Amino acid sequence: MPKKKVVIIGGGISGLTAAYELTRRGHQVTVLEQRELLGGLARSVQLGERYIERYYHFICRGDQHLIRLINELGLASKLHWRPGRTSYFVQGHIYPFTSPLDLLRFSAIRPLSRLRFGLHAARCRRMTNWEDIEDLTAEQWLIQAVGTEAYEVIWRPLLQTKFSRYYDQISAPWLWHRIHRYSQSRRSLWRPEQLGYLEGGSQVLIDALADYIVDHGGAIQLNSAASEIMESHGKVVGVRAGERDEEADAVASAIALPELVPLLPDSAADYGQQLSGIDFMAVRCLLVALEHNLTDSFWVNVSDSRIFFNGLIEYSNLNPWQQYGGAQILYIPMYMPADEELFVWPQEELIEAVIGCLEILCPQFDRSWIREVIVTQDLYAQAICPPQFSQRQPALAAPLTGLYVLDSTQLYPSDRCLSGMIGLARTVGEMIDSR
Ligand SMILES: Cc1cc2nc3c(=O)[nH]c(=O)nc-3n(C[C@H](O)[C@H](O)[C@H](O)COP(=O)(O)OP(=O)(O)OC[C@H]3O[C@@H](n4cnc5c(N)ncnc54)[C@H](O)[C@@H]3O)c2cc1C
Repeated sequence: MPKKKVVIIGGGISGLTAAYELTRRGHQVTVLEQRELLGGLARSVQLGERYIERYYHFICRGDQHLIRLINELGLASKLHWRPGRTSYFVQGHIYPFTSPLDLLRFSAIRPLSRLRFGLHAARCRRMTNWEDIEDLTAEQWLIQAVGTEAYEVIWRPLLQTKFSRYYDQISAPWLWHRIHRYSQSRRSLWRPEQLGYLEGGSQVLIDALADYIVDHGGAIQLNSAASEIMESHGKVVGVRAGERDEEADAVASAIALPELVPLLPDSAADYGQQLSGIDFMAVRCLLVALEHNLTDSFWVNVSDSRIFFNGLIEYSNLNPWQQYGGAQILYIPMYMPADEELFVWPQEELIEAVIGCLEILCPQFDRSWIREVIVTQDLYAQAICPPQFSQRQPALAAPLTGLYVLDSTQLYPSDRCLSGMIGLARTVGEMIDSR
């Protein structure tokens, strides 16, 4: 098979994995990344004098594509597993929420609702025939399965804080897969999930991929925003980035769909229209270095009308390597449509509002515990997948010869995750290689 010139747009985990796969197969690859840093949503950010993962990333036992890549790149010794303790803040109280025994003691709902909640979680672990619930919203499916009380107290607040005004439009299979993926990390019903993390964070993986690509003849161009995908006679011939044209036999887009649409040639206008119909949630996240832990959990779900975020991720309780000069690392993510006021709230006001909520959540918390705090944000953090979304998923091969598309919506019903994107990127690498 003749070797090809391939341009990859986007230097996140998908773009870098596609570049790695193609470089391994001897193709001539150029990665274009608009920022000065690689990694996309998994990139690092400066907190004080150190670099730290911009968003928390944990690994599940079933994340096979990611685990295989970690092994291939010689990083196996950096992958560690620990119990991921969960708790639930509801009705002014933090309840442990890790084991079936915790559920039995979860007095925020009646015993029958607890039982229904537990049985549903156990069924999700075994269930695979998600097509049977494709017509349902998560709300309809959950009310049928766990009843109104458990839905109102546990699930609705979580869906609302994650999807805001779209909360009742999310497909049932999407939510099923989230419960299913997480539960695969449990060896038995009675033992807590084992969650994984990389010593050094996702940056270790990003750096290893970039080193491999460059060492094997690939090129990575930072500060290079693609502005146009060029075509001739119905076939992709290259990518324009600034003043430069990069010739290509094939192009892989590894950027969010709304970022891809303006780059498409006029001949792909219908395709662009189709992609524009998929909406995304934005995210803002507080990354806080604290003197002390707030809880002993890795993840605290929050359901309280006074608190406008749905969870605390006390990352140091899972990954002690992410400790920041002895401080504890806390992430507070807030998802929202980008047209909501919260997305443009001044950072100081946002930080103050979050501190007020932390005082409700954890009465012993004192603002003097905060050593550093930064606010990060991204526009395309989470696709919104309504029922029957499988009919709208874009294919890996776009309807323009030589163009391939990588996007988290192609993982449906799975949620976006590193492992899934690595799997898709390797498939795209194989497709380009074999055509
Ligand atoms: C808050 C949060 C928490 C998460 N937690 C987890 C977790 O615990 N576990 C897990 O597995 N996953 C998690 N994820 C998901 C994971 O981060 C993503 O699935 C993954 O990083 C997506 O990678 P990507 O390469 O597909 O896209 P991105 O990371 O979005 O990368 C796209 C890249 O393209 C670049 N780009 C955009 N436009 C252009 C252009 N015109 N020209 C050149 N470059 C361009 C961008 O700058 C970016 O670097 C989380 C995500 C978020 C937001």
